[in-house]
Amino acid sequence: MSSYVESNSVVMDFSKASINDVFQKQKNNTKNRRENFGYAERVVELKNLREAVLAHEEQLYEALYADFKKPQEEVKLTEVFPVLQEIRHTLSHLKGWMKPKRVKPALSVFGTHAQLRPEAKGTCLIISPWNYPFTLSFGPLVSALAAGNSVIIKPSELTPNTSALIAELVKKTFSPDLVSVVEGDAEVSQALLQLPFDHIFFTGSPQVGKIVMAEAAKSLASVTLELGGKSPTIIGPTANIKKAVRTIVWGKYANNGQTCIAPDHIFVHQSLSHDFAEAVNQEVQRVYGKTNAEQKSTPDYCRVVNERHFQRLSGLLEDAKNKGAVVLQGGELDSSDNFIPPTILKNTSDDMRINQEELFGPILPIIEFDDIDMVIKRINDNPKPLALYVFSKDKSFTGNIINQTSSGAVGVNIAVAHFLHPNMPFGGVNNSGIGAAHGYYGFLAFSHEKGVLKDYASITHMLFPPYTPKVKKLINLVVKVFG
Ligand code: NAD
Repeated sequence: MSSYVESNSVVMDFSKASINDVFQKQKNNTKNRRENFGYAERVVELKNLREAVLAHEEQLYEALYADFKKPQEEVKLTEVFPVLQEIRHTLSHLKGWMKPKRVKPALSVFGTHAQLRPEAKGTCLIISPWNYPFTLSFGPLVSALAAGNSVIIKPSELTPNTSALIAELVKKTFSPDLVSVVEGDAEVSQALLQLPFDHIFFTGSPQVGKIVMAEAAKSLASVTLELGGKSPTIIGPTANIKKAVRTIVWGKYANNGQTCIAPDHIFVHQSLSHDFAEAVNQEVQRVYGKTNAEQKSTPDYCRVVNERHFQRLSGLLEDAKNKGAVVLQGGELDSSDNFIPPTILKNTSDDMRINQEELFGPILPIIEFDDIDMVIKRINDNPKPLALYVFSKDKSFTGNIINQTSSGAVGVNIAVAHFLHPNMPFGGVNNSGIGAAHGYYGFLAFSHEKGVLKDYASITHMLFPPYTPKVKKLINLVVKVFG
């Protein structure tokens, strides 16, 4: 791309008519795809996507730097790698995933043969957020294509350079009746949601997730909702502080804390509280620099995405400070560059907004505890988180937390990395999401598993009317034996 879009400008060159047109083209193509696009064709599509991603890598670095100064290495690890891994993993398993699966026979339907056949849902909509704009558009696309669908992607308007690149890459790689990109803001998203898609895969906030689900209900489209929330981290009394701190600082401050599964806040056991706070401070300074100037100039630290989010975060910080929170690290903001240094707070309380809203930025409250049951109660009193992290050497301590709480996923002595595991489902529960992504789970999200029952010697007809004494006896026997 030669020139960059002013951050936050809304690219809206799609009229309702052109949105309807591209949707209709994809719908018309569905029959053709169902009949003519099998394993070999899907492999070609995925390989084409892989080539296109590799060919646009340099442009992606530039686009994400222009959008929020995201460091190249972070782009490589969190935007390029997950997409390439998703393609590689899918290519090596797709044949098996597509095969009809034999269903165990059941005596009550003796004489039949049952199968599950995954079929493409049809025409799908992917709405993605700005925080990992590339991964969260193309990751689901891999699953959708693998399952045999056509797709319209609506990337976020808040990272306009990356969205434009996504559009350019798709245009060069796929015919519009297979994959199209519609750029724009919430209004464009709303226009798309009026169309009767077969499946909607949405990644974003719980608030907008509710809107998406309500719109999907109008045409009974199925949905996958990948949402957010506050992901707690617990540091138990036996935690290896050094290891915990390295993981947490990376998980929290990569992408400037703008990660759905970043540790949102830390519960640390009283006995380790002082040492833990010291260690986090030191680790932040080792990684990002000792002074505000060093942290501002390091190329390894990106920015808050725009002024609106900068104002939101500085408001949260002010509210916490006014109500008695103590800043252990950072806190010196620069609005000219949407810069918020890695900031650590202690002495926060429940009446502070910082302990109520998803932070989604580089501010980390540390909350001391002495009774783990109170922490568990607090987690259970709040919406179910997308991720929960526990650092402890005590298996019964971690086991209790896993058993007594509900969350999308749990990391034990590790944070964030579960996103990269291709064999694990990635998703939330209730407020943090519905359904799952990645690998086979992503393939299933975009497939309908159709049950096919074939008769070869069934005796079900013996239960049909007229209900003679003999039939009645047989029905009674069936209910008694199999019921
Ligand atoms: P968002 O919900 O504001 O926007 C997401 C998408 O929805 C964008 O494309 C946007 O244009 C569109 N949109 C916004 N308002 C809309 C409306 N009223 N109607 C229809 N569409 C609308 O989210 P965001 O700010 O882009 O991303 C941050 C949120 O996403 C956080 O809550 C974060 O935790 C979550 N998130 C979740 C995951 C996950 O995998 N679970 C990943 C990344 C981000």
